[in-house]
Amino acid sequence: MILSKELSEAFNAQVNAEMWSSNLYLSMAVYFQKEGLNGFAHWMKLQANEELEHAHKLIDYTLDRGGDITIGQVNVVPTGWGSALEVFEHVYKHECHVSEEIDKMVNIAEADKDHASRDFLFAFVREQVEEESTAKNIVEQLKHYGECHVGILDHRLGKR
Ligand code: MG
Repeated sequence: MILSKELSEAFNAQVNAEMWSSNLYLSMAVYFQKEGLNGFAHWMKLQANEELEHAHKLIDYTLDRGGDITIGQVNVVPTGWGSALEVFEHVYKHECHVSEEIDKMVNIAEADKDHASRDFLFAFVREQVEEESTAKNIVEQLKHYGECHVGILDHRLGKR
C-alpha cells in the first residue's frame, strides 16, 4: 500500500515544520548563549538536533512507503526573547501546536485505513506528550522560583 497523496503532502509539510522547529530551538540556543546561560543553550542545541532527527525519520518513512519528498524553503524563525521564562512559554505553546499537527496526520492515516502510518505516527504522539510535559515543567519552575532559580536550572539543563 502506497501512501495516499494527502498523507504524503502532510508528511512533506511536517518535514518542513520539524526543520523550522530545529531552527527555532537553535535561535533560542543563540539567545541563551548571548545571555551567558550556557546550560540552557546546550539544552536547546540538543533539542534542535532532535527536531532534525524527527525530520529524517519522516523523510525515511515517506520514501519507504513510496511517497515523495521535496525539501523546500524553511521560513525565518523568531530571534530575541525577554527572559528564560518567555522562551519556555514559547516552547510550550509551540509544542502544543506541533501535537495538534501530528494529531491531524493521525486523522488522515485513520481515514485512509493506513495502519502502518498510524503505528509510525503514534511514536510521534507519545513523543509530544513528553515534549509538552518537559516544557511545562521548566515553565513552572521558572515561575515558582523566579530569577534566582535560573542559575540552578542552567546548571541542571547543562547536564542533559
Ligand atoms: Mg519534533
